[in-house]
Amino acid sequence: MRADVRHAAATDIGLSRETNEDGYLTEPPLFAVADGMGGHMAGDVASRVALEVLSRGVGLDPGALAEAVKDANREVHQQAVASPELKGMGTTITAMVARPERADIAHVGDSRAYLYRGEVLTRLTRDHTVVERMVREGRIDREEAEHHPQRSYLERALGVEPEVEVDSYNIATQPGDRILLCTDGLTGMLNEDEIRDILQSERDPEQASKRLVSAAVEAGGSDNVTVVVVDYPGADPVERATVAVPQTAAEAPPRVRGRRRLTITALVVAGILAALVATKAAALSRWYVGEDRGRVAIFRGVPGFLHKLEKRTEIPTETLPAVYRNELEEGIVAENRDEAGEIVSDLKDIQAQHGAPKSGSSPYPNEPAP
Ligand code: MG
Repeated sequence: MRADVRHAAATDIGLSRETNEDGYLTEPPLFAVADGMGGHMAGDVASRVALEVLSRGVGLDPGALAEAVKDANREVHQQAVASPELKGMGTTITAMVARPERADIAHVGDSRAYLYRGEVLTRLTRDHTVVERMVREGRIDREEAEHHPQRSYLERALGVEPEVEVDSYNIATQPGDRILLCTDGLTGMLNEDEIRDILQSERDPEQASKRLVSAAVEAGGSDNVTVVVVDYPGADPVERATVAVPQTAAEAPPRVRGRRRLTITALVVAGILAALVATKAAALSRWYVGEDRGRVAIFRGVPGFLHKLEKRTEIPTETLPAVYRNELEEGIVAENRDEAGEIVSDLKDIQAQHGAPKSGSSPYPNEPAP
C-alpha cells in the first residue's frame, strides 16, 4: 500500500561548483536525495548510481528500503574499486517510502529528512558527521556545531566501504504532514527557522521546493542544493497553521526539534565496528592539496579515501616541475585548512619561478583566487 501524496523536487548547482553532484528521485511511493562526492565527475556518478539502484530495488516489504540502500552501497563501492577515475567516490543518501499513515526512512550521511507538522519542524535523521558525534558526546553544543569548521566531515557515506550501516526510521504520519528531504546545500545556508517559515507559507509543494532552493542560493549557497517535498493527504499544513489560535511570543510553546512529538522507532541495523568509525573520523578531519581537472586543488579528507573537493585554484599543475606534479598526484597532506592554503601559496611561488600561466585562459574565470 502506498500513500496518495503530493510531491515536488528542486535542485540548483549553487554559485561556485562546476557540476551538480546532487541527485534526487521522485517515484512515488519512493523519494530520495543524494549528495555525491569525489574528484572529477565521480561524485556525480556516485549519486546517480545510488539512486538508480534504489529506483529498481525497493519493494514494499518492511525493511526493503534499508536493504535497497545497502545494495546501492555495494554497487557504488564496486564501481569505485573497479575504475581509477572513480576511486574514492561516495554519496550520501536520504530516502523514504510513503505509506498510508507512515513513512519509512533510510539514511546515510549528512543529507536530512525533516517533518513539518502544524507549525513545528522536526529533524528526523541524524547527520553522520564528526561534529554530530561531538554533540552527542557532549563535547560541543548544537549552537557551536552549526558553525564548526568540521561540520561537513562525514563519518559514513555510501560507496566507501563494501558494507554500510544504514539508519532506518518508521514514522507514524498524520493527515497533512509534510516531509522534506534535502542535501546539506540547503541546511548549510538556511537555519531551521528559515526552512520552517518557507514550508509554512507555501502550501504548494512545487512552490515550496523552488523557494527553498532559491533561498539557499540567494543566501550565498556555494554548494549544490537539492530538496524533495512530500505532502500527505489531509488537513492542509499551511491552512492549519494559519487558523491556529494566535499566541503572543511569551505564550508560544518552544519549538520542538527533538523527538517529543514523534514516535520514532529506530531499527538498529547491524553495526560496523566502532574502531572503523573512529579511523574514518580521524581520516576525514584532515586536508590535502592535490589535483582536480588539471588544477591545484584543496580537498578535505584523505587521498584515495573519503574526500571532498573544497576549492580548485587557478594554478595549472602542468606549470609545475615534475617533482611537485608527482606529489600532487599522491596528495600533499595538511594538518588543517590554513596549512593547505600555505601549501598552495608555496606552489604558486614555485609556479612563478618555473613558468607563468597563460593569463585569461582559465576555463574557470569565476573561481576565487587561492
Ligand atoms: Mg553538499
